[in-house]
Amino acid sequence: MVNEVFHQLGTEPSVIRELFAYGLQRSAEVGSEHVYDYSLGNPSIPAPKAVNQAITDILQDTDSIRVHGYSMAAGFTETRQAIADDLNRRLGTSLHAGNLFLTCGAAPALISVIKALICDADSEIAVVAPFFPEYRPFVESNGGKLVVVPADVPSFQIRLEALEESLTPHTRALILNSPNNPSGVVYTRSTLEQVAALLQRKSSQYGHPIYIIADEPYRELVYDGVEVPFIPCIYPNTIVCYSYSKSLSLPGERIGYVLIPDWVEEGAGVYAAVAGAARSMGHVCPPTLMQLVIQRCASQMPDLAAYDENRKLLYGALTDMGYVCAKPDGAFYLFVKAPNGDAVAFSQKAKLEHDLLVVPGDGFGCPGYLRLSYCVAADMIRRSLPAFQAMMDAFG
Ligand code: PLP
Repeated sequence: MVNEVFHQLGTEPSVIRELFAYGLQRSAEVGSEHVYDYSLGNPSIPAPKAVNQAITDILQDTDSIRVHGYSMAAGFTETRQAIADDLNRRLGTSLHAGNLFLTCGAAPALISVIKALICDADSEIAVVAPFFPEYRPFVESNGGKLVVVPADVPSFQIRLEALEESLTPHTRALILNSPNNPSGVVYTRSTLEQVAALLQRKSSQYGHPIYIIADEPYRELVYDGVEVPFIPCIYPNTIVCYSYSKSLSLPGERIGYVLIPDWVEEGAGVYAAVAGAARSMGHVCPPTLMQLVIQRCASQMPDLAAYDENRKLLYGALTDMGYVCAKPDGAFYLFVKAPNGDAVAFSQKAKLEHDLLVVPGDGFGCPGYLRLSYCVAADMIRRSLPAFQAMMDAFG
């Protein structure tokens, strides 16, 4: 006998992974130049040179016991202080090492925070559509209820009335992800200020804090100088989950953090519960070599030129063909309306007839839309355009 919830999670198919696997199979059959795979959000720009240099230097200069040994569960104090110093320099904050708990990326950061905040079987975690599909198992496998705030179409900001209707006395937190996967939209300061005012009002009404969990792996992936407001400076009860997976192109290295500023209500208790939640999942410490790398590279920024070129190329070409798409200010995704409103049928036909792999938005809580990950070679985008045109001719 096995746990039913986990058995189902372990066997249910992932649309994204299936498309990706199909793409690999078709590449072997027809040649990769004939397959247009927009399925996975795997960074396509290399990690900054400074990261590779830091790895070389650390392996040469640092005592091997320190490089490969255990650290404290929260991570080296020096690494956490380096991250805090970088945030303080950029954001004018006064964060310190004690505000940070290092994790193996954003996913374990999120699940630790969610686990820490779910107090009973009635606990609800709200999320704004469209959203990263993994939030559902993160919440539901921990006994919580995921409450979806319907999407604000077509801008993909946040509809205040819809959010208000979704908040109840059981709401423990609201997950916000900006820049957003899958829409590429960045929540504006005005949107966030309105959300903050609403949450403040509801927290007072219900007599307990409703936290924002700011899921920010794409914080540094933003174009045309668009502002990504730092949510803890707008809404004090914000817990940040961050990752270097996308910003430093290190998804396989598994390094990120939870940030709980001093000004968060019951912050010490939340920090302790996050540490306990991580411990309950077998977190021992984040990869030590990567901690030492981040200590040296906390202020490194990605070179976004290649993503930006792809963004302009794909957004420009698709909108010229008549596709409707949210303005992609950040991350590396386009969220495109399926021309006839049926994203599943579009994705299936595109796959079978054109080897064009795009993900239907249903799993992101937004049926009728398609997610395209443009962290790919620009050449693939150019070669894929006739397929998009053929699909528009068939569906438009
Ligand atoms: N949150 C969002 C919105 C994501 O898109 C991802 C990964 O794609 C994650 C969290 C998980 O990131 P990590 O690889 O750091 O666990």
